[in-house]
Amino acid sequence: MPVATGPLRIAKVVRVRGVVQGVGFRPHVYRLAQAHALDGWVLNGDSGVEIRVAGSPEAIDAFVQALTEQAPPAAAIVAVDVGSCDVDAVGAGFEIRTSTSGHQPTTRMSPDLAVCDACLRELVEPLDRRHRYPYINCTNCGPRYSIIRALPYDRPQTTMADWHLCEACATEYHDPADRRFHAQPVACAACGPMYRLFIDGEESIRGDEAIGEAARLLRGGFIVAIKGIGGYHLGCDADNANAVAEVRERKYRKDQAFAVMVRNMDVADDTVWLDRESRELISSVARPIVLAPARVTLAGVAPDNRDLGVMLPYTPLHHLLFASGAPSRLVMTSGNRSSEPIAYRDDEARTRLTGLADAFLIGERPIARRVDDSVVRVGVCGPVVLRRSRGLAPAAVATLPVKTPLLAVGGDLKNAVTLAVDGQAYVSQHIGDLSHVESRRAFEETIRDLLEMYAIAPSDLIVAHDQHPEYASTFHAAGITAERTIAVQHHRAHVASVLAERGAFDRRVVGVAFDGTGYGDDGSIWGGELFVGSVAGGFARVARLRPAFLAGGDAAAKHPVQAAAGFLAQLDNLPDLSSAPFAFPARYRDACVLVQRRVRVFPTTSAGRLFDTVAALLGFTRPVTFEGQAAMWLEHLARGADWDAMELPCSFVDAELDWRGTLAAIVDARMREVPPERIARAFHRALARGLRDAIVAIARSAGVDTVALSGGVMQNQLLLEELRDALPPAALQLWTNRAVPPNDGGISLGQAAIAAFAR
Ligand code: ZN
Ligand code: ZN
Ligand code: FE
Repeated sequence: MPVATGPLRIAKVVRVRGVVQGVGFRPHVYRLAQAHALDGWVLNGDSGVEIRVAGSPEAIDAFVQALTEQAPPAAAIVAVDVGSCDVDAVGAGFEIRTSTSGHQPTTRMSPDLAVCDACLRELVEPLDRRHRYPYINCTNCGPRYSIIRALPYDRPQTTMADWHLCEACATEYHDPADRRFHAQPVACAACGPMYRLFIDGEESIRGDEAIGEAARLLRGGFIVAIKGIGGYHLGCDADNANAVAEVRERKYRKDQAFAVMVRNMDVADDTVWLDRESRELISSVARPIVLAPARVTLAGVAPDNRDLGVMLPYTPLHHLLFASGAPSRLVMTSGNRSSEPIAYRDDEARTRLTGLADAFLIGERPIARRVDDSVVRVGVCGPVVLRRSRGLAPAAVATLPVKTPLLAVGGDLKNAVTLAVDGQAYVSQHIGDLSHVESRRAFEETIRDLLEMYAIAPSDLIVAHDQHPEYASTFHAAGITAERTIAVQHHRAHVASVLAERGAFDRRVVGVAFDGTGYGDDGSIWGGELFVGSVAGGFARVARLRPAFLAGGDAAAKHPVQAAAGFLAQLDNLPDLSSAPFAFPARYRDACVLVQRRVRVFPTTSAGRLFDTVAALLGFTRPVTFEGQAAMWLEHLARGADWDAMELPCSFVDAELDWRGTLAAIVDARMREVPPERIARAFHRALARGLRDAIVAIARSAGVDTVALSGGVMQNQLLLEELRDALPPAALQLWTNRAVPPNDGGISLGQAAIAAFAR
């Protein structure tokens, strides 16, 4: 029954793609249609939100414009397509229709969202029916990715399926004018899940008192396992040195920094120095951990580090814990033993974390998949993602020119995988180090999960993997009966990740990959590589760090003095490094013997191992307990120096960045008792200048004006700062990673980009 509103009634079909499901988009469309007096309907389709509208052309134009301009805060619109359709097919009134599901959903899943201000106001309002309800949420906030079991995103397909809406919740859920219209996880204390506190395996309390008691335990210095959005945290008072030491002891985590959750922005400001960009990051809907310079010393929280990782509360439960008197700075570290993946299933958490936690605060809503906290920082070239997980995954980070579904399995360290569907590249949450059985299981689960979610058969896939023949990820890729399998060299993948994020596939660049470890074309261990080329045309290696021998291969990454042996073997007139001021342990001499005899030694161009060598010379002679530790220690040491113009050589000759003079000068300076921090600082500058010479020479001869920098070493902000300052101003554009990590967490995106162009 068409409605006559004059001769100028037309109809349009509008398709909106992007993150538009589970973010309050359909109610937004409904309200706009009402406001512009349009008839029609909206529904969640497989490829986004579909809208039919009928009315005057002016009203439809205004409606389409407002769709994007007034979009809900958590929506991320990628495209709005408008086409004509039959005006007679659109009846009177506007309605929200039920979702359709075809064979292959390409809708983007929304990442999890921090609780919104409107919900927080209700949470603390004594008269509100959700007063102190730990699972309060609405269409603008709450869990998404961590509760989705299948697409499209509807309650029966989430971990909320077992809870039936009470009358009051149902009314809100069905009212298009309500903030909770079709909010899939909607619930209240009358009908929804709750928290329970377990002490010594016994359930002691359920409900609000459980939260109060947990807060009391935290105040008393106890360690509490707290179920969050994507897994369990181990929480304790960050200002209580004994409690912090106890967590380290129990987790077997010796040195790596813990993240701190602070009560609110004021406490954040008391704890770290936040500039404008860092403030935006820390309060963004993703609520990541933000690394920033510490203003306070919290004993044992971040040893040998000038930065602290700080985050704001992001679930209603966190807010309730603080409101119930929990200490205003809590260590919130992932619930696991060191380097295992975070626990997220209740039974698993109870078993794995027994002995780690004094009590368990367990929420009844199941977690569909593991999602750690994301880690970001404001770097020299803008915001950098160091770990891409909760709040960011699984948003698409790039568009690739490939129609076939493509899976890139990443590398073995800091693993994350990328799935490209219809050219949209979705990067998974951080998975971790695949040398652990648990992480390998998580890796396989994540791949299965993503393929199921997008209804993709493995046989239809192009699979990309690292060129390393011994990687667990390579073995896994080989086990997939895919359409095609493509090996991608590690450092080309690093460089390609920078370009993929920007969609700059044809751009010819100087690509710099400064990294720890990666399998090279010649089978040696690469990690200080310079390329010229593009993603579409391929990257030719044109220069590199001078090779050294690495005794014991990749195992040397755990022992800076072992790495040092291979580099220092190329220097003449070395003093006895086993005595002061170097005091290298016996492992150094053993490694020297291997290097001399060429037994179990492998050539390497790894910049990471060069940093380890310098760290060893300046006092870091113990083994590292996590990847990159010695280099972080060296950067921290260098930050403590007053610059006083000490110069170290580092030359670029014959396509080789030569560190021999640098190391000889460092040994000499150490013998002359130059303070180690000054030497550390000078090393960063020397290497940056050597690299600058290399980049400028290569860019000139190749006729390119863009430099793409990536690899784990490029997380070093002091090196980047020195490099930026050393490059001739405005002559070259410096591109670094923005959406995916420069470390191996970004590898899978680069693999996917290169595979998309493979012929
Ligand atoms: Zn909300
Ligand atoms: Zn209810
Ligand atoms: Fe790498």
